[in-house]
Amino acid sequence: MTARILVVDDIPANVKLLEARLLAEYFDVLTAENGYECLDICAKASVDVILLDIMMPGMDGFEVCERLKTNPKTAHIPVVMVTALDQPTDRVRGLRCGADDFLTKPVNDMQLMARVKSLVRLKMLSDELRLRAETARTIGIDASAVREDEPASILLVDGRANSQERIARALKPVAEISAMSDPQAAIFEAAEGNYDLIIVNSNFDDYDPLRLCSQIRSLERSRFIPVLLVVDAGGEAMVVRALELGVNDYILRPLDPNELLVRCLTQIRRKRLNDRLRESVHQTIELAVTDPLTGLNNRRYLDKHLKLLFDRAAARGRPLSVCITDIDRFKSVNDTYGHDAGDEVLKEFAARVRSTVRGADLACRFGGEEFVVIMPDTAPETAAAVAERLRYVVENQPFVLKQSGTELKITASLGIATTIHGATSGDDLMRQADRALYEAKHAGRNRVVAAAA
Ligand code: GH3
Ligand code: MG
Ligand code: MG
Repeated sequence: MTARILVVDDIPANVKLLEARLLAEYFDVLTAENGYECLDICAKASVDVILLDIMMPGMDGFEVCERLKTNPKTAHIPVVMVTALDQPTDRVRGLRCGADDFLTKPVNDMQLMARVKSLVRLKMLSDELRLRAETARTIGIDASAVREDEPASILLVDGRANSQERIARALKPVAEISAMSDPQAAIFEAAEGNYDLIIVNSNFDDYDPLRLCSQIRSLERSRFIPVLLVVDAGGEAMVVRALELGVNDYILRPLDPNELLVRCLTQIRRKRLNDRLRESVHQTIELAVTDPLTGLNNRRYLDKHLKLLFDRAAARGRPLSVCITDIDRFKSVNDTYGHDAGDEVLKEFAARVRSTVRGADLACRFGGEEFVVIMPDTAPETAAAVAERLRYVVENQPFVLKQSGTELKITASLGIATTIHGATSGDDLMRQADRALYEAKHAGRNRVVAAAA
């Protein structure tokens, strides 16, 4: 894991100490001796994790953190406050400034590495998502708004009734809490429910809480839900293993309700941001296989999918039919009424195709004014009937231009082919259908021609 860590401390000896340890683990290390220098470096270089001293002359760590977190360019960089202060109030103040974690001086080596590695891992994941979402934005789609105001829902897995109550009370102002004491049942609940956060209290009598954490991480339906582990003071070894397993954060007992609250809010905020990024990546993928004008699948999708359908039909010994349709004399629509009118006709044409074919059929815009319908499990006679119906729904009703109300008489020519005539591949089948279409055009348009048997 190569990552760049920025160490910020006004005392050179402290910087040297952390730098040496990080270099020994092959991290790339940058250093700064005050807050201004830290902000400066973050503005110029790409930094993966910041280890930030709190007490520094000029600008203290709280202010540095706040500035980093309010700047959209640096808000995603995890900040670990390294501090001699160890009052709960300081922690809460740091968390409110957006800090991701604390390490108390003198820094324990094992904790330092576990923490840094886990934050680097999380950051790499969200960097990847941010990058893809960025691509999505540049091609004109934006993620849906974050639902900040929606109350969060938290699953609390805790072996004791009294601590369940205490935790629920602390979080009540910001979330709906479902408490469970049976960790096995909780695994199902985590996968079934729609939670923003899971809190695991490591106080079961005869159950290893890390087993629960690792199962939550490995199940498809719960792996993106953040997990916060509650650990006994002195449970540092468990914390290190938990972070390795992918637990997002931990809090030591005795619990400070304020610290618990802000840690939960941080996790929930991050989850919602990542959900939104993931959603936008999903949209990008959709976009890559969808024709923007008609909403039908595009040629890229057709090429890939036809291969699968062809192989499946061959394996099952079932017929597969394709129909290629091309609008007749479409150029004259553009020439007479303009390109926008042409687009309108294409949209309406696509809608008619979509509403004419079955759900199992795949309708695509092949390009320009050509459309393709792939019909699994369809014999030549049925394909011919579908094509004829398509031809009819186009010719039967005029296409009405919205602005002018002009009625256009549109027709289309169609070529069909079916695998039973010996096509050797999806491409081959498409070539046969295309030849049939060519014949339909030559024979006078507005007709269906089937590829010769
Ligand atoms: P034929 O009956 O032989 O198919 O004649 P045609 O005019 O339909 O065929 P041709 O291939 O000569 O012209 C197709 C036209 O479709 C030309 C092109 O400008 C137009 N076209 C392709 N894509 C689009 C589009 O996205 N929007 C619009 N408005 N027109 C398009
Ligand atoms: Mg045409
Ligand atoms: Mg054409």
